[in-house]
Amino acid sequence: MSENSQNINIQAIQSLFQLQKEKALRLRAEPLQNREVRLKKIENWILGNQEELQKAIFSDFGKPYTETTTSEIFPVLAEIRHTLAHLHRWAAPTKIDAPLTYLGTRSEIRYEPKGVCLLIAPWNYPFNLCIGPLISCLAAGNTAIIKPSEMTPHTSALIKKMIASLFSEEEVSVIEGGAEVTTELLSLPFDHLFFTGSPAIGKVVMKAAAEHLTSVTLELGGKSPTVIDETAHLNDAARRIAFGKFINNGQTCIAPDYVLIHESKKEKFISLLNEHIQSQFGGGKKVDENSQDYARIVSQKHFQRIDALVQDAVQKGATIELEGSKNERTRFLSPVILSNVSMNSRIMEEEIFGPVLPIITYSNDSEVATVINSKPKPLGMYIFSNNKKFRESLISSTSAGAVCINDCVIQFTHPDLPFGGVNNSGIGKAHGHYGFLSFSNEKPSIRQKRGLSSTYFFYPPYTPLKKKLIDFILRWVA
Ligand code: NAD
Repeated sequence: MSENSQNINIQAIQSLFQLQKEKALRLRAEPLQNREVRLKKIENWILGNQEELQKAIFSDFGKPYTETTTSEIFPVLAEIRHTLAHLHRWAAPTKIDAPLTYLGTRSEIRYEPKGVCLLIAPWNYPFNLCIGPLISCLAAGNTAIIKPSEMTPHTSALIKKMIASLFSEEEVSVIEGGAEVTTELLSLPFDHLFFTGSPAIGKVVMKAAAEHLTSVTLELGGKSPTVIDETAHLNDAARRIAFGKFINNGQTCIAPDYVLIHESKKEKFISLLNEHIQSQFGGGKKVDENSQDYARIVSQKHFQRIDALVQDAVQKGATIELEGSKNERTRFLSPVILSNVSMNSRIMEEEIFGPVLPIITYSNDSEVATVINSKPKPLGMYIFSNNKKFRESLISSTSAGAVCINDCVIQFTHPDLPFGGVNNSGIGKAHGHYGFLSFSNEKPSIRQKRGLSSTYFFYPPYTPLKKKLIDFILRWVA
Protein backbone atom coordinates (compact mmCIF):
# COMPACT_ATOMS: atom_id res chain seq x y z
CA MET A 1 0.00 0.00 0.00
CA SER A 2 1.43 3.42 -0.92
CA GLU A 3 2.12 6.13 1.60
CA ASN A 4 -0.65 8.38 0.22
CA SER A 5 -3.26 5.67 0.24
CA GLN A 6 -2.39 5.14 3.91
CA ASN A 7 -3.87 8.59 4.42
CA ILE A 8 -1.88 9.23 7.57
CA ASN A 9 -4.20 10.35 10.29
CA ILE A 10 -2.02 12.13 12.79
CA GLN A 11 -4.84 12.61 15.26
CA ALA A 12 -5.69 8.91 15.16
CA ILE A 13 -2.03 8.04 15.89
CA GLN A 14 -1.99 10.47 18.81
CA SER A 15 -5.21 9.14 20.33
CA LEU A 16 -3.96 5.57 19.95
CA PHE A 17 -0.79 6.59 21.75
CA GLN A 18 -2.84 8.17 24.56
CA LEU A 19 -4.99 5.05 24.87
CA GLN A 20 -1.87 2.89 25.15
CA LYS A 21 -0.35 5.24 27.71
CA GLU A 22 -3.37 4.78 29.99
CA LYS A 23 -3.37 1.03 29.41
CA ALA A 24 0.37 0.79 30.13
CA LEU A 25 -0.24 2.28 33.58
CA ARG A 26 -2.94 -0.29 34.27
CA LEU A 27 -0.72 -3.14 33.05
CA ARG A 28 1.75 -2.42 35.84
CA ALA A 29 -0.68 -3.83 38.37
CA GLU A 30 -1.54 -6.94 36.36
CA PRO A 31 -0.51 -10.45 37.42
CA LEU A 32 2.25 -12.13 35.42
CA GLN A 33 -0.22 -14.73 34.15
CA ASN A 34 -1.83 -12.11 31.90
CA ARG A 35 1.45 -11.60 30.09
CA GLU A 36 1.72 -15.36 29.62
CA VAL A 37 -1.80 -15.46 28.19
CA ARG A 38 -0.80 -12.85 25.58
CA LEU A 39 2.22 -14.88 24.52
CA LYS A 40 0.17 -18.07 24.31
CA LYS A 41 -2.37 -16.30 22.10
CA ILE A 42 0.40 -15.45 19.66
CA GLU A 43 1.73 -19.02 19.79
CA ASN A 44 -1.70 -20.47 19.02
CA TRP A 45 -2.29 -18.05 16.20
CA ILE A 46 1.03 -19.01 14.57
CA LEU A 47 0.31 -22.72 14.92
CA GLY A 48 -3.08 -22.25 13.29
CA ASN A 49 -1.93 -19.95 10.46
CA GLN A 50 1.39 -21.31 9.25
CA GLU A 51 0.23 -21.69 5.67
CA GLU A 52 -1.14 -18.16 5.51
CA LEU A 53 2.20 -16.89 6.72
CA GLN A 54 4.11 -18.97 4.18
CA LYS A 55 1.87 -17.68 1.39
CA ALA A 56 2.21 -14.03 2.46
CA ILE A 57 6.01 -14.13 2.62
CA PHE A 58 6.16 -16.07 -0.66
CA SER A 59 4.04 -13.34 -2.28
CA ASP A 60 6.41 -10.68 -0.98
CA PHE A 61 9.74 -12.14 -2.14
CA GLY A 62 9.32 -15.72 -3.23
CA LYS A 63 10.67 -17.21 -0.03
CA PRO A 64 10.33 -21.02 -0.08
CA TYR A 65 7.64 -22.23 2.33
CA THR A 66 10.04 -24.42 4.32
CA GLU A 67 12.50 -21.55 4.66
CA THR A 68 9.65 -19.50 6.16
CA THR A 69 9.03 -22.30 8.63
CA THR A 70 12.67 -22.54 9.68
CA SER A 71 13.62 -18.86 9.63
CA GLU A 72 10.40 -17.00 10.49
CA ILE A 73 8.09 -19.36 12.38
CA PHE A 74 10.51 -21.55 14.31
CA PRO A 75 12.55 -18.68 15.87
CA VAL A 76 9.38 -16.89 17.05
CA LEU A 77 7.84 -20.04 18.54
CA ALA A 78 11.19 -20.82 20.22
CA GLU A 79 11.31 -17.28 21.63
CA ILE A 80 7.77 -17.62 23.02
CA ARG A 81 8.42 -21.02 24.62
CA HIS A 82 11.75 -19.97 26.09
CA THR A 83 10.15 -16.83 27.52
CA LEU A 84 7.19 -18.74 28.98
CA ALA A 85 9.60 -21.18 30.62
CA HIS A 86 11.66 -18.43 32.29
CA LEU A 87 9.38 -15.42 32.73
CA HIS A 88 8.68 -16.04 36.43
CA ARG A 89 12.39 -16.05 37.21
CA TRP A 90 13.19 -13.04 34.98
CA ALA A 91 10.37 -10.93 36.41
CA ALA A 92 11.02 -11.81 40.08
CA PRO A 93 12.99 -9.15 41.99
CA THR A 94 16.71 -9.99 42.29
CA LYS A 95 17.90 -9.89 45.91
CA ILE A 96 21.11 -7.92 46.41
CA ASP A 97 23.48 -8.52 49.35
CA ALA A 98 24.38 -5.56 51.60
CA PRO A 99 28.03 -4.51 51.88
CA LEU A 100 29.43 -3.64 55.33
CA THR A 101 28.58 0.07 54.98
CA TYR A 102 24.93 -0.83 54.34
CA LEU A 103 24.52 -3.32 57.17
CA GLY A 104 20.88 -3.77 58.10
CA THR A 105 19.46 -2.62 54.75
CA ARG A 106 17.60 -4.83 52.30
CA SER A 107 17.99 -4.30 48.58
CA GLU A 108 16.62 -5.74 45.40
CA ILE A 109 16.30 -4.94 41.71
CA ARG A 110 12.75 -4.82 40.39
CA TYR A 111 11.88 -5.13 36.73
CA GLU A 112 9.23 -2.62 35.86
CA PRO A 113 7.70 -2.32 32.40
CA LYS A 114 8.96 0.70 30.46
CA GLY A 115 5.45 1.60 29.22
CA VAL A 116 4.44 2.31 25.62
CA CYS A 117 6.92 0.90 23.12
CA LEU A 118 7.35 1.44 19.39
CA LEU A 119 8.67 -1.51 17.37
CA ILE A 120 9.89 -0.62 13.86
CA ALA A 121 10.68 -3.62 11.66
CA PRO A 122 12.57 -4.22 8.41
CA TRP A 123 11.38 -6.29 5.44
CA ASN A 124 13.98 -9.05 5.25
CA TYR A 125 12.53 -11.38 7.91
CA PRO A 126 9.20 -9.57 7.99
CA PHE A 127 7.42 -11.78 10.53
CA ASN A 128 10.31 -12.87 12.73
CA LEU A 129 11.68 -9.34 13.21
CA CYS A 130 8.24 -7.86 14.00
CA ILE A 131 6.93 -10.51 16.35
CA GLY A 132 10.24 -11.60 17.96
CA PRO A 133 10.72 -8.20 19.69
CA LEU A 134 6.99 -8.11 20.51
CA ILE A 135 7.44 -11.26 22.65
CA SER A 136 10.06 -9.53 24.83
CA CYS A 137 8.00 -6.34 24.90
CA LEU A 138 4.83 -8.09 26.14
CA ALA A 139 6.77 -10.37 28.49
CA ALA A 140 8.12 -7.27 30.20
CA GLY A 141 4.56 -5.94 30.64
CA ASN A 142 4.45 -3.16 28.05
CA THR A 143 2.01 -2.05 25.38
CA ALA A 144 3.23 -1.89 21.78
CA ILE A 145 2.69 -0.10 18.51
CA ILE A 146 4.23 -2.08 15.67
CA LYS A 147 5.33 -0.48 12.39
CA PRO A 148 6.09 -3.29 9.92
CA SER A 149 7.91 -2.66 6.65
CA GLU A 150 6.05 -1.21 3.68
CA MET A 151 8.29 -3.32 1.39
CA THR A 152 6.54 -6.58 2.31
CA PRO A 153 2.86 -5.56 2.10
CA HIS A 154 1.35 -9.07 2.17
CA THR A 155 3.13 -9.99 5.40
CA SER A 156 2.48 -6.59 6.97
CA ALA A 157 -1.24 -6.88 6.21
CA LEU A 158 -1.32 -10.36 7.75
CA ILE A 159 0.49 -9.15 10.86
CA LYS A 160 -2.07 -6.35 11.18
CA LYS A 161 -4.90 -8.87 10.85
CA MET A 162 -3.30 -11.20 13.38
CA ILE A 163 -2.73 -8.47 15.98
CA ALA A 164 -6.26 -7.07 15.55
CA SER A 165 -7.69 -10.55 16.11
CA LEU A 166 -5.67 -11.15 19.30
CA PHE A 167 -5.41 -7.82 21.09
CA SER A 168 -7.31 -4.66 21.81
CA GLU A 169 -5.67 -1.67 20.14
CA GLU A 170 -4.76 -0.23 23.53
CA GLU A 171 -2.59 -3.32 24.18
CA VAL A 172 -0.97 -3.91 20.79
CA SER A 173 -1.61 -2.15 17.53
CA VAL A 174 -0.14 -2.21 14.02
CA ILE A 175 0.32 0.93 11.95
CA GLU A 176 1.34 0.34 8.34
CA GLY A 177 3.28 2.78 6.19
CA GLY A 178 6.73 4.01 5.24
CA ALA A 179 9.03 6.84 6.24
CA GLU A 180 6.26 9.46 6.54
CA VAL A 181 4.18 7.39 8.98
CA THR A 182 7.28 6.39 10.94
CA THR A 183 8.31 10.04 11.23
CA GLU A 184 4.91 10.85 12.79
CA LEU A 185 5.24 7.94 15.21
CA LEU A 186 8.78 8.98 16.12
CA SER A 187 7.58 12.43 17.15
CA LEU A 188 5.69 10.88 20.11
CA PRO A 189 7.23 10.44 23.57
CA PHE A 190 7.44 6.63 23.61
CA ASP A 191 8.96 4.92 26.64
CA HIS A 192 11.15 2.70 24.45
CA LEU A 193 11.99 2.43 20.75
CA PHE A 194 13.04 -0.91 19.32
CA PHE A 195 14.27 -0.41 15.76
CA THR A 196 15.56 -3.07 13.38
CA GLY A 197 16.93 -1.76 10.09
CA SER A 198 19.83 -0.01 8.43
CA PRO A 199 22.47 2.08 10.25
CA ALA A 200 21.39 5.12 8.17
CA ILE A 201 17.76 5.02 9.43
CA GLY A 202 19.02 3.94 12.87
CA LYS A 203 20.58 7.40 13.11
CA VAL A 204 17.25 9.04 12.20
CA VAL A 205 15.53 7.00 14.92
CA MET A 206 18.15 7.84 17.53
CA LYS A 207 17.91 11.56 16.74
CA ALA A 208 14.13 11.43 17.16
CA ALA A 209 14.52 9.49 20.42
CA ALA A 210 16.89 12.14 21.75
CA GLU A 211 14.07 14.73 21.58
CA HIS A 212 12.21 12.86 24.33
CA LEU A 213 15.24 11.11 25.87
CA THR A 214 13.55 7.85 24.96
CA SER A 215 15.67 4.73 25.41
CA VAL A 216 16.51 2.80 22.23
CA THR A 217 17.44 -0.65 21.09
CA LEU A 218 18.91 -0.41 17.60
CA GLU A 219 19.39 -3.67 15.72
CA LEU A 220 21.34 -2.59 12.65
CA GLY A 221 23.45 -4.14 9.91
CA GLY A 222 26.91 -3.95 8.40
CA LYS A 223 29.58 -6.00 6.71
CA SER A 224 30.11 -9.24 8.64
CA PRO A 225 33.59 -10.61 7.78
CA THR A 226 34.13 -14.34 7.35
CA VAL A 227 37.68 -15.50 7.87
CA ILE A 228 39.05 -18.84 6.63
CA ASP A 229 42.61 -19.66 7.60
CA GLU A 230 44.99 -22.38 6.43
CA THR A 231 43.85 -24.81 9.14
CA ALA A 232 40.08 -24.59 8.45
CA HIS A 233 38.03 -27.60 7.41
CA LEU A 234 37.23 -26.27 3.94
CA ASN A 235 34.29 -28.51 3.09
CA ASP A 236 32.49 -27.67 6.36
CA ALA A 237 33.25 -23.98 5.83
CA ALA A 238 31.89 -24.04 2.26
CA ARG A 239 28.70 -25.87 3.27
CA ARG A 240 27.96 -23.52 6.17
CA ILE A 241 28.86 -20.34 4.28
CA ALA A 242 26.69 -21.40 1.31
CA PHE A 243 23.74 -21.70 3.70
CA GLY A 244 24.40 -18.55 5.79
CA LYS A 245 25.08 -16.38 2.75
CA PHE A 246 22.40 -17.47 0.28
CA ILE A 247 19.42 -18.29 2.50
CA ASN A 248 16.79 -15.53 2.05
CA ASN A 249 18.71 -14.68 -1.17
CA GLY A 250 21.49 -13.09 0.85
CA GLN A 251 19.13 -10.57 2.43
CA THR A 252 20.16 -11.39 5.99
CA CYS A 253 21.65 -8.87 8.41
CA ILE A 254 24.10 -11.44 9.80
CA ALA A 255 24.97 -13.10 6.47
CA PRO A 256 28.68 -13.42 5.74
CA ASP A 257 29.26 -10.21 3.78
CA TYR A 258 32.73 -11.02 2.44
CA VAL A 259 35.28 -13.82 2.84
CA LEU A 260 38.88 -13.24 3.89
CA ILE A 261 40.74 -16.43 3.01
CA HIS A 262 44.36 -17.56 3.11
CA GLU A 263 45.60 -17.40 -0.50
CA SER A 264 46.62 -21.09 -0.48
CA LYS A 265 42.97 -22.15 0.05
CA LYS A 266 41.11 -19.87 -2.33
CA GLU A 267 40.77 -22.13 -5.40
CA LYS A 268 39.67 -25.18 -3.44
CA PHE A 269 37.21 -23.15 -1.37
CA ILE A 270 35.55 -21.57 -4.40
CA SER A 271 35.09 -24.96 -6.02
CA LEU A 272 33.58 -26.46 -2.81
CA LEU A 273 31.37 -23.41 -2.29
CA ASN A 274 30.04 -23.76 -5.82
CA GLU A 275 29.20 -27.43 -5.18
CA HIS A 276 27.34 -26.63 -1.96
CA ILE A 277 25.42 -23.75 -3.56
CA GLN A 278 24.23 -26.11 -6.28
CA SER A 279 23.30 -28.90 -3.90
CA GLN A 280 21.48 -26.66 -1.40
CA PHE A 281 19.71 -24.22 -3.72
CA GLY A 282 19.80 -25.69 -7.24
CA GLY A 283 18.81 -29.32 -6.74
CA GLY A 284 22.35 -30.40 -7.72
CA LYS A 285 22.50 -28.07 -10.76
CA LYS A 286 23.18 -24.38 -11.36
CA VAL A 287 20.64 -22.30 -9.47
CA ASP A 288 18.02 -21.07 -11.94
CA GLU A 289 14.50 -19.65 -11.95
CA ASN A 290 13.01 -23.11 -11.47
CA SER A 291 14.71 -23.62 -8.13
CA GLN A 292 12.11 -24.29 -5.44
CA ASP A 293 14.57 -23.57 -2.65
CA TYR A 294 15.78 -20.06 -3.43
CA ALA A 295 14.11 -16.75 -2.50
CA ARG A 296 13.88 -13.62 -4.66
CA ILE A 297 15.15 -10.05 -4.21
CA VAL A 298 12.55 -7.93 -2.43
CA SER A 299 12.25 -5.11 -4.97
CA GLN A 300 13.43 -3.85 -8.36
CA LYS A 301 15.30 -1.08 -6.57
CA HIS A 302 17.31 -3.56 -4.51
CA PHE A 303 17.86 -5.75 -7.59
CA GLN A 304 19.39 -2.76 -9.42
CA ARG A 305 21.42 -1.75 -6.36
CA ILE A 306 23.01 -5.22 -6.05
CA ASP A 307 23.59 -5.51 -9.79
CA ALA A 308 25.29 -2.09 -9.76
CA LEU A 309 27.59 -3.25 -6.93
CA VAL A 310 28.70 -6.21 -9.08
CA GLN A 311 29.23 -4.03 -12.17
CA ASP A 312 31.28 -1.53 -10.17
CA ALA A 313 33.46 -4.33 -8.72
CA VAL A 314 34.04 -5.83 -12.19
CA GLN A 315 34.94 -2.43 -13.64
CA LYS A 316 37.53 -2.10 -10.87
CA GLY A 317 39.12 -5.42 -11.76
CA ALA A 318 37.11 -8.15 -9.96
CA THR A 319 36.92 -11.63 -11.50
CA ILE A 320 33.54 -13.33 -11.67
CA GLU A 321 34.06 -16.85 -10.31
CA LEU A 322 30.40 -17.79 -10.40
CA GLU A 323 27.64 -16.06 -12.28
CA GLY A 324 24.32 -17.60 -13.11
CA SER A 325 21.26 -16.01 -14.51
CA LYS A 326 19.36 -12.91 -13.51
CA ASN A 327 15.93 -11.55 -14.36
CA GLU A 328 15.07 -8.07 -13.21
CA ARG A 329 11.36 -8.48 -13.90
CA THR A 330 11.02 -11.49 -11.58
CA ARG A 331 13.77 -10.19 -9.27
CA PHE A 332 15.69 -13.44 -9.64
CA LEU A 333 19.42 -13.20 -9.01
CA SER A 334 21.42 -16.40 -8.69
CA PRO A 335 24.49 -16.58 -6.43
CA VAL A 336 27.51 -14.59 -7.58
CA ILE A 337 31.08 -15.18 -6.34
CA LEU A 338 33.75 -12.56 -7.00
CA SER A 339 37.51 -12.68 -6.49
CA ASN A 340 40.35 -10.17 -6.98
CA VAL A 341 38.01 -7.53 -5.60
CA SER A 342 39.51 -4.08 -5.08
CA MET A 343 39.09 -2.72 -1.55
CA ASN A 344 38.07 0.55 -3.21
CA SER A 345 35.06 -0.95 -4.94
CA ARG A 346 31.64 -0.09 -3.54
CA ILE A 347 30.97 -3.73 -2.76
CA MET A 348 33.73 -3.60 -0.13
CA GLU A 349 32.41 -0.36 1.32
CA GLU A 350 28.63 -0.92 1.55
CA GLU A 351 26.63 -3.70 3.17
CA ILE A 352 25.84 -6.06 0.24
CA PHE A 353 22.53 -7.49 1.48
CA GLY A 354 22.14 -9.75 -1.56
CA PRO A 355 23.50 -13.00 -3.08
CA VAL A 356 26.99 -11.76 -3.95
CA LEU A 357 30.08 -12.97 -2.11
CA PRO A 358 33.44 -11.22 -2.60
CA ILE A 359 36.47 -13.38 -1.76
CA ILE A 360 39.54 -11.48 -0.59
CA THR A 361 42.85 -13.31 -0.07
CA TYR A 362 45.56 -12.69 2.49
CA SER A 363 49.03 -14.12 2.89
CA ASN A 364 49.93 -13.04 6.40
CA ASP A 365 47.65 -13.55 9.44
CA SER A 366 48.26 -9.99 10.63
CA GLU A 367 46.50 -8.59 7.52
CA VAL A 368 43.14 -9.99 8.63
CA ALA A 369 42.56 -7.74 11.66
CA THR A 370 43.78 -4.73 9.66
CA VAL A 371 41.06 -5.26 7.02
CA ILE A 372 38.33 -5.84 9.62
CA ASN A 373 39.38 -2.84 11.72
CA SER A 374 39.39 -0.58 8.66
CA LYS A 375 35.58 -0.87 8.53
CA PRO A 376 32.79 0.01 11.01
CA LYS A 377 32.26 -2.63 13.71
CA PRO A 378 30.21 -5.48 12.18
CA LEU A 379 27.16 -7.32 13.52
CA GLY A 380 28.89 -10.70 13.31
CA MET A 381 32.37 -12.05 12.72
CA TYR A 382 32.88 -15.62 11.52
CA ILE A 383 36.16 -17.49 11.90
CA PHE A 384 36.73 -20.85 10.27
CA SER A 385 39.96 -22.09 11.81
CA ASN A 386 41.30 -24.94 13.89
CA ASN A 387 44.13 -22.78 15.21
CA LYS A 388 43.10 -21.56 18.67
CA LYS A 389 45.94 -19.04 18.89
CA PHE A 390 44.87 -17.41 15.60
CA ARG A 391 41.21 -17.32 16.65
CA GLU A 392 41.92 -15.82 20.07
CA SER A 393 44.26 -13.22 18.65
CA LEU A 394 41.68 -12.20 16.03
CA ILE A 395 38.82 -12.03 18.56
CA SER A 396 40.82 -9.87 20.95
CA SER A 397 42.12 -7.51 18.27
CA THR A 398 38.76 -6.78 16.61
CA SER A 399 35.23 -5.81 17.69
CA ALA A 400 31.89 -7.27 16.53
CA GLY A 401 28.33 -7.76 17.80
CA ALA A 402 29.00 -11.51 18.02
CA VAL A 403 31.64 -14.04 17.09
CA CYS A 404 30.88 -17.44 15.68
CA ILE A 405 33.63 -20.02 15.24
CA ASN A 406 33.50 -22.71 12.54
CA ASP A 407 29.96 -21.75 11.54
CA CYS A 408 27.95 -18.66 10.69
CA VAL A 409 24.53 -17.09 11.48
CA ILE A 410 23.70 -19.68 14.18
CA GLN A 411 24.23 -17.10 16.94
CA PHE A 412 20.79 -15.64 16.13
CA THR A 413 18.69 -18.52 17.40
CA HIS A 414 20.59 -19.49 20.56
CA PRO A 415 18.03 -18.64 23.26
CA ASP A 416 20.55 -17.71 25.96
CA LEU A 417 22.88 -15.51 23.93
CA PRO A 418 22.34 -11.74 23.69
CA PHE A 419 21.75 -10.63 20.10
CA GLY A 420 22.83 -7.21 18.87
CA GLY A 421 25.54 -5.11 17.34
CA VAL A 422 28.12 -2.64 18.52
CA ASN A 423 28.23 1.03 17.44
CA ASN A 424 27.46 1.09 13.69
CA SER A 425 25.87 -2.39 13.84
CA GLY A 426 23.64 -1.59 16.80
CA ILE A 427 23.00 -0.52 20.37
CA GLY A 428 21.42 -2.75 23.02
CA LYS A 429 20.60 -6.44 23.00
CA ALA A 430 17.63 -8.61 22.07
CA HIS A 431 16.36 -12.19 22.58
CA GLY A 432 15.40 -14.14 25.66
CA HIS A 433 16.41 -12.66 28.99
CA TYR A 434 18.32 -9.84 27.24
CA GLY A 435 15.20 -8.86 25.29
CA PHE A 436 13.17 -8.86 28.50
CA LEU A 437 15.76 -6.55 30.12
CA SER A 438 15.75 -4.18 27.11
CA PHE A 439 12.03 -3.59 27.63
CA SER A 440 12.31 -3.29 31.43
CA ASN A 441 13.53 -0.57 33.73
CA GLU A 442 15.89 -2.26 36.18
CA LYS A 443 14.74 -0.36 39.25
CA PRO A 444 16.82 -0.69 42.41
CA SER A 445 14.89 -0.67 45.65
CA ILE A 446 16.58 -0.30 49.05
CA ARG A 447 14.86 -0.54 52.45
CA GLN A 448 16.39 0.89 55.60
CA LYS A 449 15.83 -0.68 59.04
CA ARG A 450 14.54 1.21 62.07
CA GLY A 451 16.84 2.88 64.62
CA LEU A 452 20.65 3.03 64.53
CA SER A 453 22.09 2.61 61.07
CA SER A 454 25.60 2.68 59.66
CA THR A 455 24.78 5.74 57.53
CA TYR A 456 24.50 7.82 60.77
CA PHE A 457 28.30 7.82 60.85
CA PHE A 458 28.28 10.09 57.82
CA TYR A 459 25.87 12.69 59.25
CA PRO A 460 27.17 15.98 60.68
CA PRO A 461 28.26 17.21 63.13
CA TYR A 462 31.70 15.87 62.19
CA THR A 463 33.06 15.15 65.65
CA PRO A 464 36.67 13.92 66.06
CA LEU A 465 35.32 10.36 66.64
CA LYS A 466 33.29 10.47 63.42
CA LYS A 467 36.28 11.77 61.46
CA LYS A 468 38.33 8.86 62.77
CA LEU A 469 35.60 6.41 61.79
CA ILE A 470 35.30 7.93 58.33
CA ASP A 471 39.11 7.69 57.92
CA PHE A 472 38.94 4.05 59.01
CA ILE A 473 36.15 3.32 56.50
CA LEU A 474 38.04 5.07 53.70
CA ARG A 475 41.16 3.08 54.46
CA TRP A 476 39.72 -0.37 55.14
CA VAL A 477 36.11 -0.66 54.03
CA ALA A 478 35.06 1.62 51.16
P1 NAD B 1 15.50 0.37 6.60
O1 NAD B 1 16.38 1.03 7.59
O2 NAD B 1 15.43 0.95 5.23
O3 NAD B 1 13.98 0.30 7.12
C1 NAD B 1 13.65 -0.18 8.40
C2 NAD B 1 12.36 0.47 8.87
O4 NAD B 1 12.53 1.87 8.94
C3 NAD B 1 11.16 0.20 7.95
O5 NAD B 1 10.04 -0.11 8.73
C4 NAD B 1 10.99 1.52 7.22
O6 NAD B 1 9.64 1.79 6.90
C5 NAD B 1 11.48 2.54 8.23
N1 NAD B 1 12.03 3.73 7.58
C6 NAD B 1 12.59 3.82 6.35
N2 NAD B 1 12.99 5.08 6.11
C7 NAD B 1 12.68 5.81 7.20
C8 NAD B 1 12.85 7.18 7.55
N3 NAD B 1 13.42 8.06 6.73
N4 NAD B 1 12.41 7.58 8.76
C9 NAD B 1 11.85 6.70 9.61
N5 NAD B 1 11.66 5.39 9.32
C10 NAD B 1 12.07 4.95 8.13
O7 NAD B 1 15.97 -1.16 6.55
P2 NAD B 1 15.43 -2.32 5.63
O8 NAD B 1 15.85 -2.04 4.21
O9 NAD B 1 14.02 -2.61 5.90
O10 NAD B 1 16.30 -3.56 6.19
C11 NAD B 1 17.62 -3.78 5.82
C12 NAD B 1 18.60 -3.30 6.87
O11 NAD B 1 18.22 -3.78 8.14
C13 NAD B 1 20.00 -3.85 6.63
O12 NAD B 1 20.94 -2.85 6.94
C14 NAD B 1 20.10 -4.99 7.62
O13 NAD B 1 21.41 -5.34 7.98
C15 NAD B 1 19.32 -4.45 8.77
N6 NAD B 1 18.79 -5.53 9.61
C16 NAD B 1 19.28 -5.69 10.86
C17 NAD B 1 18.83 -6.73 11.65
C18 NAD B 1 19.34 -6.98 13.04
O14 NAD B 1 18.71 -7.75 13.77
N7 NAD B 1 20.42 -6.34 13.47
C19 NAD B 1 17.87 -7.60 11.14
C20 NAD B 1 17.38 -7.39 9.86
C21 NAD B 1 17.85 -6.34 9.10
